[in-house]
Amino acid sequence: MHALGDFSLTVVNGGNFRLDGGAMHGVVPKTLWSKLVSCDDQNRCEYATNCLYVEGRGVRMLIETGNGDKLSPRQKEVFGIDHDRAVAGALTEAGIDPASIDLVVLSHLHFDHVGGATVRKGNAIVPVFPRARHVVQKREWQAAMAPHERNRASYLQENLGPLREAGLLDLVDGEAELAPGVRVLPTPGHTPGHQSVLIDGGGQRALFCGDVAPTSVHVRLPYIMAYDLDVEATLESKRGLWQRAIAEDWLCVFGHDCACHAARLGLDASGQPAVTATENL
Ligand SMILES: [Zn+2]
Repeated sequence: MHALGDFSLTVVNGGNFRLDGGAMHGVVPKTLWSKLVSCDDQNRCEYATNCLYVEGRGVRMLIETGNGDKLSPRQKEVFGIDHDRAVAGALTEAGIDPASIDLVVLSHLHFDHVGGATVRKGNAIVPVFPRARHVVQKREWQAAMAPHERNRASYLQENLGPLREAGLLDLVDGEAELAPGVRVLPTPGHTPGHQSVLIDGGGQRALFCGDVAPTSVHVRLPYIMAYDLDVEATLESKRGLWQRAIAEDWLCVFGHDCACHAARLGLDASGQPAVTATENL
């Protein structure tokens, strides 16, 4: 737990999974990334689904919901998921009742971010956070509803329809204030409608990066995932965020880093953005 002015921030892990190390590091060759991250015999690196619980100023908010537990045995095998853990259980373990959450923010709608927002109940799929409005960029919703060959495997329709049918979707268009001190910032690149979340607790600020920078390794500007649809847009999103993060000493929270929940940034000897201090929340 981290106190950020009027807010408390807690990371709850919705469960680990594994992704191809080459895809995760884009054009960076394995000879370089393998010095920073280890991988298994199938070249997969292990990642967390760090969801951020934020409480304060009368709001109980969850940023991201992880993979959930609706994936098929085949999908679980491909993504190296050997557990039934989901974010609802992780919240309960931390003493937080999922039914009490009133705001869910999704950086984008890939399954590893939205999967934990719904659960199977008999033959139906129902929301896990029945009181919460679920905030996503309108542009992201439109992309997820009309997936193409390059992103279809990431936008699982079973994660999306049940939220809309329950009337829980809140589509925003561009930068928006969701609650006093909580703003979403469009940070396109990974997907066109990707957003990050800036929390201002009164003098102290934290940023939930989302997949602009899934881990602390990705703070380096050239480290951009091959999954990203528009890598130059990611580069500019990241450059813009880091300028502000360094100038205003933001605590940057990473959604997929197993070892490092959050970091403060500065410039290294060659003038490039780099991690200067880390913190677990
Ligand atoms: Zn992701």
